[in-house]
This record gives sequence, C-alpha cells and structure tokens, in this order.
Amino acid sequence: MRILLLGGTTEASRMARALADARRPAIFSYAGRTEAPAAQPIPVRIGGFGGPEGMAAYLRDHAISHVIDATHPFAARISANAVAACRAAGTALVALERPAWAPVPGDDWTRVPDADAAAAALPETPAAVFLAIGRQSLQPFAARDQHRYLLRLVDLPEALPIPNAEAVIARGPFTTEDDLALMRAHGITHVVAKNAGGSGARAKLDAARALRLPVVMIDRPAIPARPVLGTVEEVTRWLAHAGVPAGSGPAGTERGE
Ligand code: NAP
Repeated sequence: MRILLLGGTTEASRMARALADARRPAIFSYAGRTEAPAAQPIPVRIGGFGGPEGMAAYLRDHAISHVIDATHPFAARISANAVAACRAAGTALVALERPAWAPVPGDDWTRVPDADAAAAALPETPAAVFLAIGRQSLQPFAARDQHRYLLRLVDLPEALPIPNAEAVIARGPFTTEDDLALMRAHGITHVVAKNAGGSGARAKLDAARALRLPVVMIDRPAIPARPVLGTVEEVTRWLAHAGVPAGSGPAGTERGE
C-alpha cells in the first residue's frame, strides 16, 4: 500500500510530517509552480501528471492505494482530476481541506464568484488595492487601470501583468502586525482576497478589519463531490481505519514525470 499526497499548501506539509513520523509509505507531489518549493520529509515528485488519464496511469504504475488531496482550495483542476483518476484506478481518495473564512463583526466583505467579478467590484474612482491573490488570477485587474495595486507574490515575475503595480515578494504565514504595517505604508484603501481559509493568510483580513477597509472576497471554485476531512489528525485516523501499514518509502526527488 502506498500514499500519494498532492501538495502545495501548509496543510500538505503538515500531513507529510505526520506520514513521515508514522513511517507510512508515501510520496509528495508538487505542481512545480514555485522556484524553491519547501523541502519535505518524504520522497517528492514534481510536475503535472498529464490530466486525469495521466494521473490514473501514475496511480496504477506506482501501486498507489490512497490519495490525499491537500492542494489549495482554489486549485480546482488538480482536485477534479484526482476525483476522476481515483475513480478510474479504483484508488481511495480523501481531501484535506481547511474550512473557508467567514466574516466576523467589523468585517466589510463583498463576496464575488471569481477574479473577473472581483475586478468589477472595485470602485470606479481610483483606489489603492492590496491584491494578495497569487500570480495566476491577476489579468482581470489590468483593465481597471485607474487603480494603484500592491501585489504579494511568492516569486518575482519577469514582468508585472498589470499596470500601476508594485510587488512585494513574500511567503506566508503572515502576521497581522506586519500586514497592518504593509497596508499603512502603501496607503491601501481596498483588499482583494481569495477565500483560502486557514491561518497562514488570514492576517490581511484582520488588518483590514482593524483599518476599517473594505474587502472583496473571492469565493472558492466548485469541486466535484469527494470525501473531505479538515485536519491532519482526521486524515491520519482515516488511513489507520483503511489499514495503511507503517513502513518507509524510498528517498529522493523525481522531477517532471
Ligand atoms: P490547478 O489549476 O488545479 O492545476 C493545474 C495543473 O497543474 C493540473 O491540471 C496539474 O497538471 C498540475 N498540478 C496542480 N497541482 C499539482 C500537484 N500537487 N502535483 C502535480 N501536478 C499538479 O492548480 P493551480 O491553481 O495552478 O495550483 C498549482 C499548485 O499550487 C497546486 O498544487 C496548489 O496546491 C498550489 N497553490 C495554489 C494556489 C491557488 O491559489 N490556486 C495557492 C497556493 C498554492 P496535470 O493536469 O498535467 O496533472
């Protein structure tokens, strides 16, 4: 029996640590988006599988019995692929997914379905917008060029995809104190966020509340139905009930499979 852990999140790294501690045979999969992904205590492979068919073939070729999908809640394609591939290969699947954030008293949120709607929800008058939504969802803001943008990105891109933009390069977790200072220093008037959930990125929402700033919150994309658990401990229990034995897998990194 062997586990494939789909990663790219803080939760995935925590899950990898739990799998290593329990000496369960497991392999960690990164998409390969960032230049220096976090090191993991279990063997790592990097790169796409080639769609659901490619993942199903990988599951069969590597005798994977269990898949843990700990990808980001906005990584909808890989999660849909995992549902289809596990069904095709007869592999057990569980998602490790953090609960979405919910507004608390003092929050001023406008909820929107996607990045296009988020760009449209910004005011017509010039604003100073903190866009902490990752590199891939920036394009819709290019046309709203009356605004000034502060981007927070993991890697510095060759060119910023929107005009009037400045980038800070940083990797979470972030603190409310630091996000308050950042937003004050840049005179931010609006925050655009994805409803990622979890603790690592919520500081900007706490800072926005403290500064009484409006937040445009992008809701999570739809993902096909699958079993979902909220914590590493629950997934560990799921594996124990599924009878995944303790053991140790091979070490090393395979890139671009
Ligand atoms: P996506 O749109 O759902 O996936 C696009 C393609 O990337 C997939 O079809 C798959 O290629 C490949 N892929 C994605 N995750 C993979 C993984 N863990 N292992 C191997 N291949 C993977 O995903 P995305 O939004 O581009 O995100 C890419 C990665 O960054 C994810 O692993 C996610 O956890 C992480 N991440 C995403 C966000 C976000 O806001 N979207 C934020 C933080 C971290 P094939 O079809 O060829 O298999």
